[in-house]
Amino acid sequence: NKFVYIFGNNETEGKNSMKDLLGGKGANLAEMSNLGIPVPVGFTITTGVCTLYLKNGQYPPGLEEHIDNAIKQLESTTKKNFGDLKNPLLLSVRSGARVSMPGMMDTVLNLGLNDDSVVGLATKTGNERFAYDSYRRFLTMFANVVLDIDHEKFESALSSKKKDKCVKQDNDLEVEDLKELVEKFKTIIKDETGKDFPQDAREQLQMAIDAVFGSWNNQRAITYRKLNGIPGEWGTAVNVQSMVYGNMGENSGTGVAFTRDPATGEKRFFGEYLINAQGEDVVAGIRTPQPIKALKNTMPVVYDQLVDIYMKLEDHFKDMQDIEFTIEKGKLFMLQTRTGKRTAAAAIKIATEMVEEGLIDKDTALLRVEPEQIDRLLHPNIDPTSTYEVMATGLPASPGAAVGEVVFTAEHAEEMAKNGEKTILVRAETSPEDIGGMNAAEGILTVRGGMTSHAAVVARGMGKPCVAGCGEITIDMKEKIFNVGDYTVKEGNMISIDGSTGNVILGEVDLILPGVTDELETILKWADEVRTLKVRTNADTPHDAEVARDFGAEGIGLCRTEHMFFGEDRIPAVREMIMAEDIESRKMALKKLLPMQREDFIGIFKAMEGFPVTIRLLDPPLHEFLPVHEEVMDKLRELESSDTSQKEMDRVKKIGERIEYLKEINPMLGHRGCRLGITYPEIYEMQAQAIIEAACELSKEGMKIVPEIMIPLVSHVKELEFVKKHVTTVVESVMEEMGIKLDYLVGTMIELPRAALTADQIAKEAEFFSFGTNDLTQTTFGFSRDDAGKFLPSYLESGILEDDPFAVLDQDGVGQLVKIGIEKGRATRPDIKIGICGEHGGEPKSIKFGHNVGLNYVSCSPFRVPIARLAAAHAVL
Ligand code: PEP
Ligand code: MG
Repeated sequence: NKFVYIFGNNETEGKNSMKDLLGGKGANLAEMSNLGIPVPVGFTITTGVCTLYLKNGQYPPGLEEHIDNAIKQLESTTKKNFGDLKNPLLLSVRSGARVSMPGMMDTVLNLGLNDDSVVGLATKTGNERFAYDSYRRFLTMFANVVLDIDHEKFESALSSKKKDKCVKQDNDLEVEDLKELVEKFKTIIKDETGKDFPQDAREQLQMAIDAVFGSWNNQRAITYRKLNGIPGEWGTAVNVQSMVYGNMGENSGTGVAFTRDPATGEKRFFGEYLINAQGEDVVAGIRTPQPIKALKNTMPVVYDQLVDIYMKLEDHFKDMQDIEFTIEKGKLFMLQTRTGKRTAAAAIKIATEMVEEGLIDKDTALLRVEPEQIDRLLHPNIDPTSTYEVMATGLPASPGAAVGEVVFTAEHAEEMAKNGEKTILVRAETSPEDIGGMNAAEGILTVRGGMTSHAAVVARGMGKPCVAGCGEITIDMKEKIFNVGDYTVKEGNMISIDGSTGNVILGEVDLILPGVTDELETILKWADEVRTLKVRTNADTPHDAEVARDFGAEGIGLCRTEHMFFGEDRIPAVREMIMAEDIESRKMALKKLLPMQREDFIGIFKAMEGFPVTIRLLDPPLHEFLPVHEEVMDKLRELESSDTSQKEMDRVKKIGERIEYLKEINPMLGHRGCRLGITYPEIYEMQAQAIIEAACELSKEGMKIVPEIMIPLVSHVKELEFVKKHVTTVVESVMEEMGIKLDYLVGTMIELPRAALTADQIAKEAEFFSFGTNDLTQTTFGFSRDDAGKFLPSYLESGILEDDPFAVLDQDGVGQLVKIGIEKGRATRPDIKIGICGEHGGEPKSIKFGHNVGLNYVSCSPFRVPIARLAAAHAVL
């Protein structure tokens, strides 16, 4: 029952491995202290206390005493006293969860000041300006974080003071101005809460601790957790630390830095700092900071020390660190170190280079890159050959380009996203309240703030393009416009931003997809060495097949032949086939389709030469190929009022009747899949003939092709038996005719619950299985694939479902059927090849599941192939 852990002196009690208990910040402060790095003394109240407090509404007995004892230790180390009027010990109170949640939780600095001790502090330090600057900061933060008073109230009082005094920066205000501000701030607090600002230091501390714990459950924190999959039970720790002051004059300051460039991954010290500033000034983007290199000139000794420390930290933690420091009268203190957030490109560069440097091994490097991050790397940039009009340039805060309509509020961005509309969120600066809107927007543009501002950090984490600190822009929220140079841009106007250059562009630019970089190749090559799961692609055209091959696909897991039927040159023949009333006329139409299908397959086989290709026979209900009934009726009416021949009228009428006949109440459960092959065997026969003719032709040219013919939507072994007989009869006779003997397989999709449950019987006929988890999810949940968008959002919002089951495989339900299908299938045919070709085949969590249940391969869309390769490696590690 230890609630409080001391750090920063010789008696540091925590260490880096205690993150669950001390939070990331607390554990790392302890670790730095253990490494002999200067850290201001403080203590961490554990996450366990948070959990108890939030559960029971009260603190565990004895906590108060533990805190009082810890304060006594800080007093003896610092030789200052908490609540003392002459020589006050001031504290910072900060949250710190197990993983960093930037900007989500709040910070209070300079706690312990009151009307009397501010005088004491001024006398003791001989710096009255510093004392009152600290007090006004404390009042603002305390009011905002602890008393929940709108920050804007204090900001506007400060702004009008600066205006009165005709100064630009906070630092230009005089002591008297600060004193007046302090009075003004206290009045605001009294007006807002009906109570005086609490003068008692211990009371202030308790209120701040309550607020930090309470803020674990504020809306912003909940949203962030939801977006990042952080469990609510974790809770946060509270770090109470003796203050060091970056606002004591020109030889003081504060800054944040990264041990490598978080945007590109380049190995260089990267960061910024502000002279005579405190705490959040750098991150908040209130003043524009100096690049860290400038510190080398202004404070060379401190700079060298900082370089030593950052190197030591990176060496110790073996990962890129994001550090915070304060310089008090030329003396350096570290306030935080944590694993730095980085872009996808940086993650890959850092991971591969750290292997070269011998800092980490390949497996660790693989785990440093999230499969989903690769997705961002394959995301669009501006086409370099296009021309466009640059209105302004800000900081290139998060790479990639985005196009969208201008919106000025986060709520608006969220609303627009619900309607599928793309937006660029334009803000003076962002704050944690904007997080939902930032997620909804395509990109983010801010007027103020540096490379480590909230907007920059959060956008990089989300992989969204962001241009920050574009100071030429002025926003007029009332008119809903922004002005920049000669341009006036209204809400709803299209703009583009380039987060790699900082350009803000009028109108829509052309975007292109970047290729795979050498470093990504390296990571993927390492992934290939580790993974056991094969990765195939879903492709219906030679082009898609080639793209997928370039991304490393090892075959086609699903070629949906219906997509080939929509080509302009063939839809008339397809319609003719559907319209046919007897088998003879249907065969006539199919004869026209045969050579086209053969060419299709030749193209696909060639593009995938040397790899297996699974071709699925026709799957969708036939009406999908016909025009809409309404259209036909309109056409008929049109013909009636003209002098068209009776023959033409009869033809159109017949189409109308056929459409009526083919109409189904529930087409997804209707006449589709192998049911088509049972009612019209000649369709599948034509497809089988085209496949095998194509394969034979290419094998004559010396290519090795092993076609895998796949039958969809089988639920009963006898369906497969029936269809397979027709298919193999055609295949054998074609081979005989052409005088070629080829290996080929006939297999089935497992995409209906009955198929999974009777997979042992089905495996007697099927030579391979491919789980069609789209249909399997549809039929297991009974959720229509086409209609689920109407109700699934409510399921996700209310927490009934954690993920959209059409995106992330439902392991408990659908996954169980997959497991049963695999077990039963292998019981009959131990070496049966089994894959998955639903959307889940490209989703990392589902891939891991697939690996664990013993699939041989996953198949996904071409752009997800690299993601799947890495996810398959992660599944092993
Ligand atoms: C499936 O159902 O998962 C599948 C891959 O087939 P389709 O999406 O074409 O129905
Ligand atoms: Mg399907």
